[in-house]
Amino acid sequence: MKSRVLQIEGWQKIVHFTDDEAGLEALISIHDATIGPGCGGCRVFPYESFEAGLEDVKNLSRGMTYKNALGGIPFGGGKAVIFADPRKDKTPEMLRAFGRAVESLHGAYYTAEDSGITDADMAIIRKETKYSAGAHKTNDAGEQIGGNPSPMTARGVWVGVKAAALKKFGDASLKGKSVSILGVGAVGMELARLIHEEGGTLVVADVNDKATTEARERFGASVVSPEDAAAADVDIFAPCALGGAINEGTIDRLKAKVVAGAANNQLKTPDMDEALKARGILYAPDYVINAAGVISVGLEILGTWTKEEMTRRTNKIGDTLAEIFKRAEAEDSPTGAIADKMALEVIAQARKAA
Ligand code: NAD
Repeated sequence: MKSRVLQIEGWQKIVHFTDDEAGLEALISIHDATIGPGCGGCRVFPYESFEAGLEDVKNLSRGMTYKNALGGIPFGGGKAVIFADPRKDKTPEMLRAFGRAVESLHGAYYTAEDSGITDADMAIIRKETKYSAGAHKTNDAGEQIGGNPSPMTARGVWVGVKAAALKKFGDASLKGKSVSILGVGAVGMELARLIHEEGGTLVVADVNDKATTEARERFGASVVSPEDAAAADVDIFAPCALGGAINEGTIDRLKAKVVAGAANNQLKTPDMDEALKARGILYAPDYVINAAGVISVGLEILGTWTKEEMTRRTNKIGDTLAEIFKRAEAEDSPTGAIADKMALEVIAQARKAA
C-alpha cells in the first residue's frame, strides 16, 4: 500500500492511498479535529477523475465537522471515498486494504457506511481496523447496539421533515402531505416507508428502476424521472441521492415549500441557501437533518449506544432544526448560514475549553 499526504489549506489532513494488488484507490480526509478525531462514513463511487473524488471528500469531510458539532458527538469531521463502482468493482481484498488504510491513521479517523458501502462490506473492513463502526452488533443480552446507520438516518430525516412541516405548514403531521423523494436507496426507501405509514403521498425518482418499482409497489408512489423530481408538484422535496440537487437548473422549477432530505451537500453552490430563502422555501440544512446515522456511529464508538439514547438523540434533531428556523427568522438569514454559525459556536466553545 502506498500513501501520500496532500497539503490542502483549510483541511487538517488528506491522505491518498493506493494498493494496486488489492485494486484500491482511496482518499481519507480529516477536516477539523478540534472536538475529537475525524468521524464519518466511506463512500464508494466511480468518480470521473481524481479531482472529482478529492472535491467530494473535501466537501463531505467539512460537512462532517459541522454535522458532528451540531449532532452533539465528540468527534471532528472526517470522510473517506473509494474510487470504484459499488455495483461491480468491490472485492474483499479492496475492502480489507481500505481497512488497513484506516488502521494506519491510528485512530485519527473512524469509518462507517456511506453510499456504496453495505453492512457486509463493513464486516470485512472491520477485520483490518478497530477504528470503525456501523456493523451490526448485539450486547450480551442480545440487544442491538448500533449497526447499519441508514435506517437511523432515515428516522432522523423523518423527524426533521416533520419539524420543517410544523414550521412551514403549522402542522407536523405528514398525513395528506405530498413528498418527492429523489433517490430511493438505503435511506430514501426507509424514509418513503415512514412517510407512507403516516399517510403521506409519495413521488419518487431514481436512476435505478428496481428501486422506483419497489417504492411504487410497496407505497403506491408515483414515479418520475430524476430530472423531474425537484419540479414535482408536492409540499416537500426530499433529496436523498447524491449532492447538488438544489442548483441553478432546479431552483426555479421547485414547487415544494420545504426542502428536507438525507443527501449530503444538497446545495450545489452556497448561494442556493439565500436563493431558497428568497423564494420562501424552508430549507432544513442537510447535515443537521441527516445526522442520526453518525450520531449512532459516535455512540457506538463511545460505547454508550442504547435504543433509548438513540431515540432521544434522534428526536433532538427536530429541536435543533426548530431552533435554526427560529434564529433564521429572527436574524432574517438563510437557514444554512444559521446552522453553520451554530456549529462554529460549538467548535469555538470546544477550542476555548481545550
Ligand atoms: P444509497 O446508495 O443506498 O442510495 C442512493 C440512491 O440514489 C440509489 O438508489 C441510487 O440509485 C440513487 N441515485 C444515485 N444517483 C442518482 C441520480 N443522479 N438521480 C437519481 N437517483 C440517483 O445511499 P444512501 O445511504 O441511501 O444515502 C443517500 C444520501 O444520503 C447520500 O447523499 C448520503 O451521503 C446521504 N447520507 C446517508 C447516510 C446513511 O446513513 N446512509 C447518512 C447521512 C447522509
